[in-house]
Amino acid sequence: MKDDTELCHRGRRISDHPRVVNPPVYRASTILYPDLDSFEGRTPVGFSYGRQGTPTTRALQESLTVLERGAGAVLAPSGLAAVSTAILACCSAGDHLLVSDSVYGPTRHLCEHTLGRLGIEAEFFDPKLGGGIASRLRPQTRLVFLESPGSLTFEVQDVPAIAAAAHAGGAWVAADNTWSGGYFCKVLELGADLSVQACTKYQSGHADVLLGAVICNQRSLPTVQRHARSMGNSVGADEAYLTLRGLRTMATRLERHQRSALCLAEWLRDQPEVLRIMYPALPTDPGHGIWQRDFSGSSGLFGLVLKDRGRTALAALLEGLELFGMGYSWGSFESLLIPTHPEKLRTAGGWQPGGLTLRMHVGLENPEDLIADLAAGLRRYRQAK
Ligand SMILES: *Cc1c(COP(=O)(O)O)cnc(C)c1O
Repeated sequence: MKDDTELCHRGRRISDHPRVVNPPVYRASTILYPDLDSFEGRTPVGFSYGRQGTPTTRALQESLTVLERGAGAVLAPSGLAAVSTAILACCSAGDHLLVSDSVYGPTRHLCEHTLGRLGIEAEFFDPKLGGGIASRLRPQTRLVFLESPGSLTFEVQDVPAIAAAAHAGGAWVAADNTWSGGYFCKVLELGADLSVQACTKYQSGHADVLLGAVICNQRSLPTVQRHARSMGNSVGADEAYLTLRGLRTMATRLERHQRSALCLAEWLRDQPEVLRIMYPALPTDPGHGIWQRDFSGSSGLFGLVLKDRGRTALAALLEGLELFGMGYSWGSFESLLIPTHPEKLRTAGGWQPGGLTLRMHVGLENPEDLIADLAAGLRRYRQAK
């Protein structure tokens, strides 16, 4: 069945409950065994201990796995915990890791400050490298970590070309697929072995949950499960339930985020203060061709570059907005606009857009109201002294 149908019906075994539509929130540490044989592992039991999974977390794993065409999913207490689970499950001391220069900032921090201490060498590469990644692979390269489109700068990566080169060199590929929600991009089908999701964003969708997931193919699943089991990370029952609840409406929300984001991106492109929009759904975007090939849609998050009118003007723009909040994260029902500084992060190729970079999340408000709010903001930006 189609994804929107699956999202409504997966993770619901109503015969297990008194025919209530939604599965209950199971809060559990101890799970009681019916007899000594099951306790000693002679007869299989479905559930052994709360940290190992409950019907609530299994239901969520089932939905995420079906959505991303995986073999299974491992949950993590945040999106960043899902990133670290993916990397640490695959890499050991002495291994080399290739990381896209456009990854999420805290992913970069993990690579720059923590992996080295564990003897794992992380090297950053230009996200536009594509199949050219072959020349960066070493015998010790265990993993290539992608994020497409990239955080803040939205470069679209050629995942099939990178995956083909990585696999030929004996490395696995992990991709942070958060931007697409796993709905608009089937990154495992494109060749990745692990798909990382910050379910904090679109899956939960209401800015009230932190949760992450690593969705694996057949090859990577045992490795990730073994690692996660020994690390002891566990997700709260309410977080799992709220994420499953969010998934029921995610397809509908994403379609609306997409429509409104396109509308705002097109409007912004024509404003004199705007130098550039980074949104692969726009035909003028450098990543549009690959996006069109590999994605079935675009979510509500994009970047823009404004003519630099200084900090006072920026404050006048942002602080006077009524509908756009200033805050981290995204993927919820509300709109956000923040200044970003990719130029401070990049080491492979740099970022010199000739203006101020910002990131916009287009929420579920009416796009006409959002445009009116932005129009007033850009007027304040122009007129600020
Ligand atoms: C937000 C985000 C994360 C981290 O998710 P948290 O739940 O906030 O830890 C990871 N990757 C990407 C691309 C993100 O946008």
